[in-house]
Amino acid sequence: MIILGFIWEQSLNKTLLASAICLSLGGVLASVYLAVVSPKQMYSHETIDQALQAQAQMELSDNQLAILPHTTSHRVEPGSNSYLALREAQIDRGDVLKILESSKEVYDLSRIRAKVVFMVAWQDEAEQSASAVMFHLAPTTRLLIQKVDSEWQAEMIELPVSAPSRTFVGVVQQSLWDSAANAGMDPQLISDLAQIFAWQIDFSREVRSGDRWRITVEELFADNRPIGWGNILAAEYVNAGESFSAVRFPQTGDDASYYAPDGSSLKRMFLKSPVRFGRISSRFKRRRFHPILKRNIPHNGVDYAARTGTPVRSVGKGKVIKAGRYGGSGIMVRLRHNSVYQTAYLHLSKIARGVSRGKTVKQGQIIGYVGQTGLATGPHLHFSFYENGRFVDPLGRKFPSKDPVSKKLLPEYLQVAEQSLRTLPQWPPESSAKIARQN
Ligand SMILES: [Zn+2]
Repeated sequence: MIILGFIWEQSLNKTLLASAICLSLGGVLASVYLAVVSPKQMYSHETIDQALQAQAQMELSDNQLAILPHTTSHRVEPGSNSYLALREAQIDRGDVLKILESSKEVYDLSRIRAKVVFMVAWQDEAEQSASAVMFHLAPTTRLLIQKVDSEWQAEMIELPVSAPSRTFVGVVQQSLWDSAANAGMDPQLISDLAQIFAWQIDFSREVRSGDRWRITVEELFADNRPIGWGNILAAEYVNAGESFSAVRFPQTGDDASYYAPDGSSLKRMFLKSPVRFGRISSRFKRRRFHPILKRNIPHNGVDYAARTGTPVRSVGKGKVIKAGRYGGSGIMVRLRHNSVYQTAYLHLSKIARGVSRGKTVKQGQIIGYVGQTGLATGPHLHFSFYENGRFVDPLGRKFPSKDPVSKKLLPEYLQVAEQSLRTLPQWPPESSAKIARQN
């Protein structure tokens, strides 16, 4: 994320200042901000000075708000359009037409969505004559249209985003999701965490009660309001007593990956699981009583119980050698990863678009969706892993690491890693006690 990288380098004060100027008070202050940049704008220097003093104090109280011109806030109602919305905000018809005309070059207001909020700044308390309109197009994007020397001018504003870090820590009792809920954490972040360790841990099969995790993550703010989560900067997951750590580090430009504390990559040739979350229903076994065929046959793979429609991912980069309906296997995709390894995904409800024989798929690419086609008693994914043409259980196999941090960057990385890992929160005391007993 370029914007974050940029802001990250500024001092926190500067970032707060910029966001306070541009955002807190909506349209008017954004205008003030622009006025500071280009002095020919409409607001007086007095107003700007006062606003700047307010920012300097880092607290924008209601009193300070009162010194600014009158503003009102509105919303585009469902079924309405930009013209109607502006008219309903009591803006003069002539001005509305000019506002729509002047914004054409920077943003097409005819495609505005319902529920978009916009603010109107008025030249006077009586709200007779509008002087600026600002649409909140996205959490960090504003369209500002204002009257400058009796001409309406439009421009897009990208709000500065600040990204202070937050930490979370959890212990698994029932499930990974419960641990996130108990930690008061957005479930999206537990999903991101699982993504980071997708090569180390099969979160469908290997999560155990007593597992614990901790993360340091960027919380994004714009307009002094939280707008979502940025990147996880450091993470640790302790799975059945084995600890895995990850540090986010950009090797080149914007490309950042996760590395172990020693600089080796967390990426492996194969993901641990073709289903991001699910529940293991039947493990790899040489023999098993088949519920439909009513006899013992080897179970050549791993069953993942998951709802119909759950995305199925390719565990590794490969070439599609089968994609279609194959009797008892139902709808199936089979991939060849190299001369040694192949994988197959059975009982799919459908194959993902663009996946057909001869095509190449990337690691983690969605190749189909869970179903119960062929011989299956319920929706699940049957996943087979072949080594030199023989079924093997991928669980517990360790594949070599991909690209580590380069030798040149390693000293820098080791410093970053040490600092980053130090930001992780303390383990809760009860989980530490559990570790002590285990050792
Ligand atoms: Zn199966």
